[in-house]
Amino acid sequence: MYFGAHVGRSGGLAAAFRKGAAIGAETVQLFTQSPRAWRPNPHGPEAVAEYLQARREHPAVRSSFCHATYLINLAATDPTVGERSRDCLAHNLAVAGSIAADGLVLHLGSHLGAGLDACVKEVAGALLDALDALERPCRVLLENTAGGGGTIGRTFDELAAVLEAAGGDPRLGVCLDTQHLWASGVDFSSVDKADRVVADFDATVGLDRLDCIHLNDSKVPFGSQRDRHDNLGQGTIGAGGLAPMLGHPRLQGLPVLLEVAGPEGKGPTRADLATARRIHRVGLRRWAAG
Ligand SMILES: [Zn+2]
Ligand SMILES: [Zn+2]
Repeated sequence: MYFGAHVGRSGGLAAAFRKGAAIGAETVQLFTQSPRAWRPNPHGPEAVAEYLQARREHPAVRSSFCHATYLINLAATDPTVGERSRDCLAHNLAVAGSIAADGLVLHLGSHLGAGLDACVKEVAGALLDALDALERPCRVLLENTAGGGGTIGRTFDELAAVLEAAGGDPRLGVCLDTQHLWASGVDFSSVDKADRVVADFDATVGLDRLDCIHLNDSKVPFGSQRDRHDNLGQGTIGAGGLAPMLGHPRLQGLPVLLEVAGPEGKGPTRADLATARRIHRVGLRRWAAG
C-alpha cells in the first residue's frame, strides 16, 4: 500500500503534479477541468508535455489518477444533460489518456429515484462508448457513493450490476472511498468487520477490479448518506476506525489517495500523509495481532 493525495489544479497540470511530489505523495489525483462546470479545459500539447516531463522527474510518484467532473450523470433522463454528460466524460477521458493516467475516477450519477434497473443498460453503454472512442486508452474507475439522492454505486451490488451490464469489460475498475462507505452504512471499523466488507466486495465486484482507495475520514455520522470528507483522525470514523481497512492483507499494494482539506483547508499536506502511513502501520499491527 502506498499513499498520496488529490492535488489542486491551479497553475496547470504539471504544477498540480509537482505539488503532490513536493509533499511526498507516491500517487496523485487531479481534476483536469473544473469539477463543477461542463466547460472543457483544452490542455495544449505543451501542457501535456510539461506534465509528462514532471512525471519523469519524480519517479517516486508511482501512479496518477484523474477525477472526472461531478456534473456527469450517465443516468440522466433529460436528453440535454445526457448528451453533455457523455461529451464531458469523453473529454475527461481523452485528457486522462493523454497524460497517461492510470485511471479516471468517476461518479456515475443519479437515477433520481427511478432505480438502477431502469438505467443500468444506458449507463453501461455510455461507459463503453466513451472507452471505445479513446485514442489513448485509460481505465474508468467507478467510485462507490455515500448513497444520497439516488446516486448509483451506493452498494457493491450496484457497482457489480453496472460492471455486469458492461459485459465485465476489462477497462473498467473500481475506486473505494472510505468516507462514502461509512456514510452509506458500511462498517469496517474492526478487523472482523473490515474482513467481512472486503469479502463482500470480492464476492460481488471482485477484488481484481479494485484499482485504488480514497482514504478520508467523515464529517457526518455513520449511515448519514452524505459525502462530507474530514481530515484523518478528526471525523466520525477516526484513526482507529480506518486502521482495520488499511491493514487488510488483501488490500496491500494498492494506491491510497487522501481527499481531505488538510490542516489549513488547502489540501492534504506532508503531515496528512504521515498520519495515513501511521494509521496503516497500526492497521498492519492489528491484523498481525489477530
Ligand atoms: Zn469522487
Ligand atoms: Zn472519493
